[in-house]
Amino acid sequence: MKGLKKLLEHSDNVIYGLAAAPGLDIGYAFKYSKEHISVADSNITDVEEAVSNFHDALRQSKKEMLKIFNFAKDKMGEVRAAIFEAQLMILDDPVLIDTIISRINNEKRLPEFIVNHEISKYQQLMILSSESYLQERAMDIEDIKNRIIRNLQKKRWASKIVHDAVVVSENLTPADAILFTKSNAKGYVTDRGGLTSHAAIIARSLDLPAVVGTHNGSQKINDGDLLIVDGFHGLILVNPDSEQLDFFKKKIEHLSKIDTELKGLKDKPAVTTDGREIVLMANVDITGEIDTTITNGSRGVGLFRTEQIIEELGEIPDEEIQIKAYKNLAERIYPDTITIRAFDIGGDKVKQLHMREANPFLGLRGIRFLLANEDLFVSQINSVLKASVNKNIQFMLPMVSTLNEILRSKELIAGCMKTLSKQNIEYDKNIRIGIMVEVPSAALMAREFGKHVDFFSIGTNDLIQFLMAVDRGNDIVSDLYQEFNPAVIRTIHHIVTEGKKSNVSVSMCGEMAADTLATPILVGLGLDCLSVSPSAIPSIKRTIRNLSFESAKSLAEKCLKMSSEKEVTEEVENYFRENNIERTRNII
Ligand code: PEP
Ligand code: MG
Repeated sequence: MKGLKKLLEHSDNVIYGLAAAPGLDIGYAFKYSKEHISVADSNITDVEEAVSNFHDALRQSKKEMLKIFNFAKDKMGEVRAAIFEAQLMILDDPVLIDTIISRINNEKRLPEFIVNHEISKYQQLMILSSESYLQERAMDIEDIKNRIIRNLQKKRWASKIVHDAVVVSENLTPADAILFTKSNAKGYVTDRGGLTSHAAIIARSLDLPAVVGTHNGSQKINDGDLLIVDGFHGLILVNPDSEQLDFFKKKIEHLSKIDTELKGLKDKPAVTTDGREIVLMANVDITGEIDTTITNGSRGVGLFRTEQIIEELGEIPDEEIQIKAYKNLAERIYPDTITIRAFDIGGDKVKQLHMREANPFLGLRGIRFLLANEDLFVSQINSVLKASVNKNIQFMLPMVSTLNEILRSKELIAGCMKTLSKQNIEYDKNIRIGIMVEVPSAALMAREFGKHVDFFSIGTNDLIQFLMAVDRGNDIVSDLYQEFNPAVIRTIHHIVTEGKKSNVSVSMCGEMAADTLATPILVGLGLDCLSVSPSAIPSIKRTIRNLSFESAKSLAEKCLKMSSEKEVTEEVENYFRENNIERTRNII
């Protein structure tokens, strides 16, 4: 079978846009355009009646929004449905309501004119803002404004579409995106909108493929055209030929097989039988993995290894390339968080940049290399900050072994922030800064280091290597690379308890987090979050959902008192047997 690139090489029926929600589907186009609302401006004589009409319209709009909010809660869960809660709050905004009422009283004009004028002022401010996040929110306000006006005009608005269609539209409001699922919409294609638009977020939550920002896609598509929507690559095929249709049908078949196995788990939280929730995040090495991350239901990216960009490019990326890469990932994963780790150069990574060292793992690596090459570090800090406009990026330092490294890094970050502020460049002023805890000195100093950072992520790949003094890539001593060695278990315990005394959240992103056999101990030791390769998420989630926090805690307590790896391993295997927990392998 040809690859996608070859298949589309000479095709003139492809429309490109932004891959806003992953997934693939085939369906007929339904072109949706909302009835245009025209607003009259005339004088009124009965002010009292106008104010009462305005109150009625507010009440009716609230009723409608509440219905949508409840439906959204059912469909997407409380957290994501908060989009609609925020819209409801606008309808209760006392400043807005008072201003509108006093203008009706003073100007004696139709309420619809004043509502339009007042809310448009808010919208204009958002559209003019340099924050793309706020620009996207202007669309939500448009929906509320039109809703109140329509209710003032006592018109009905049917968000109805034909069943099982791919909805093609200039733009979609969040309410449209959620309500169309009642007609079993198969996917969304819009001319406008970005990856952080609420319609895109909703499509992602609902597992519907969406391609947004096609510019003039809706003009090129006719009602009833057969469409293939590829939300993985951000493309739409209009009236595909038989070869294209065959290709995508096979792809859909393959995806659905995998999906059936995963589906049951995707939207379920990683929560123990007695209610403790562990946040499951994904480790992303190459940007392409982000799709599986989203499809597998991770709650964000716990580790993005930026040195992989250097590996892929064969050189250090300039600021522009970095900003684009970080921004794109952050937008794709929005509203979840992405943890961008500073370049971990040295050791066995990115060798071509590095000088020769007798013991590279113990040499100029990670944060040491970056602090010795400040220009490079500063360019990465600037790129991360510039990409952080949607406020869902956190920044992590690798291979920290002394407090000084944290303090110097924070000085550099503060310096970059100051310069960006002076230049009026937008960035997240409260960006969370964390460290990898992967060197024994950092583990021992967890309480002190924790006072200077927002989060820890335990890197067991390196931590075990340094704790056991065993090269992580050396076969000859691999039997000493023991994640169940009591020294490792006790060190993790120390990091978690001491870190928590300094109020940092503690997660783990080393491979140990992806080993289902280790899951009960890690949960029992009190880790808040595990970050694993995207394909491991379902099996880890399944394990967590089958165990109780209480039993995991007593397992961890027992293991903390043991003296050998063998004892711990046997105890853990016993735990699985006694609690009837089936060990599952990663599904994809
Ligand atoms: C680790 O050391 O556990 C880790 C996650 O980082 P890396 O494997 O990239 O060194
Ligand atoms: Mg490491």
